[in-house]
Amino acid sequence: MAEFKRPTNEQEFENNFSPIKVLMNKSEAILESSKCLFCYDAPCTKACPTHIDIPLFIRQINSGNMTGSAMTIYASNYMGNLCGKVCPVEVLCEGSCVYVNQGVKAVEIGRLQNYATHKVLSEKIHIFSEGEKVNKKVAIIGGGPAGLSCASELRKAGIEVDIYEGRKMAAGLALHGIAPYKIANEDVLEELNYLQEQFHFNIIYNSFIKTKADVAKLEKEYDAVFLGIGNSSTSALNIPGEDKKEVYGAVEIIEELRMKKSNLVYGNKVIVFGGGNTAMDAASESARMGAETVLLAYRRSKENMGAYEFEYDLAKSAGVKAYFNVAPVEILGDEKVTGVKFIKTEIKDGKLKTIAGSEFTEKCDMVIKATGQSRHFELFDNISKLEVDDLGRIIVDENFRTMNPKYFAGGDAVNGGKEVVNSVAEGKFAASSIIKQLTKI
Ligand SMILES: Cc1cc2nc3c(=O)[nH]c(=O)nc-3n(C[C@H](O)[C@H](O)[C@H](O)COP(=O)(O)OP(=O)(O)OC[C@H]3O[C@@H](n4cnc5c(N)ncnc54)[C@H](O)[C@@H]3O)c2cc1C
Ligand code: SF4
Repeated sequence: MAEFKRPTNEQEFENNFSPIKVLMNKSEAILESSKCLFCYDAPCTKACPTHIDIPLFIRQINSGNMTGSAMTIYASNYMGNLCGKVCPVEVLCEGSCVYVNQGVKAVEIGRLQNYATHKVLSEKIHIFSEGEKVNKKVAIIGGGPAGLSCASELRKAGIEVDIYEGRKMAAGLALHGIAPYKIANEDVLEELNYLQEQFHFNIIYNSFIKTKADVAKLEKEYDAVFLGIGNSSTSALNIPGEDKKEVYGAVEIIEELRMKKSNLVYGNKVIVFGGGNTAMDAASESARMGAETVLLAYRRSKENMGAYEFEYDLAKSAGVKAYFNVAPVEILGDEKVTGVKFIKTEIKDGKLKTIAGSEFTEKCDMVIKATGQSRHFELFDNISKLEVDDLGRIIVDENFRTMNPKYFAGGDAVNGGKEVVNSVAEGKFAASSIIKQLTKI
């Protein structure tokens, strides 16, 4: 039985996808900030990939210096509001809070971060300034978290920046991929606008850089290029029936869901393949779209799932059921999917094996493949000397410079697909290297 009613209008959609992290009020923020022990050499700061001075921004909240607190956050992380909402804090800053070792609940760092950033964003209090012009130009391919972070840092150093974004909107997966109950579209765009109002980087929308001619033009017009292109579409499973109607890749259906909301026509019995965080999101979101049953199907055991425990718990709390040790063999139906044929699996001699004769079918009217994302190989092939590893990740040195010295790269395209906060950190770090290379500082 469905936990959520199918949303028929925008308000019902917002209700089903209401934020799991609610903005604190002043009393809550003062109380929560007073719990911080202001540790010397704070483990939370070390655990944060952008190394925000967490004890300092919490102390500033506690003393009522809200703008100062936001400045501390943004000095390390240009997407401080986004990260406060979407970071898997349980395994990052909050997971390393000294309270956790003593069996006490960690300080709510993510929510405090949002309390501080919300004030400067909603009141449009400007805290950044562009650097003095240095007569250098950088092209950024991709306007996701990595590209935006890189652009902001370059503009702070007075370097001109043009972001080439393939879609009609920027912010990458922050806008098109992350679950709406973590952050709303308006909040993502508010922070993007906040940065753009102060740093004045150009975003050239609907501009997908792909061909040799596109690349040659950028190389001629700019002093350096940053690749913040993330990953590509969902990888194929290569099983029969994959091309049937109502069979979707997870990133593609989530993007549609974020844009169309209650107007998206959705299945009633949904099967999601995969055991990673994207699979958990796709399953949770399907339940919130009012699907009567949502079944996660993973080919290994529960213990082998790549997803964080709290993401699986969230999916279960939305009514999602799971099958472990099952692999899809065929997607059934004529034109449209009507079911999936599975086979049971086991580990034998350390290897995943299927069990002969254990096939069974499960009916459904929608399938979502959360089976990983492919890479932008077409673009890679058109950039001379660019090298990728055997997983298709762009190879960079410790300065985020690629094998072609004109190109730098960061974010999912380099790390293979981590979290927003990693992309923000890498985009900023790559910008520092570009600044050093172009200004010889
Ligand atoms: C379903 C899903 C849920 C997620 N949930 C979370 C979460 O809860 N918390 C979290 O921290 N992280 C989450 N992530 C991961 C996070 O979204 C990514 O790590 C992060 O967005 C990567 O940033 P990026 O800038 O490297 O790439 P992206 O966000 O992918 O941005 C790349 C941008 O480049 C553009 N682009 C690509 N190629 C070209 C080209 N050739 N020319 C022009 N433009 C181009 C794209 O349109 C896009 O805008 C999730 C990811 C997925 C798939
Ligand atoms: S950016 Fe993320 S990991 Fe870093 S302190 Fe903020 S919520 Fe924690």
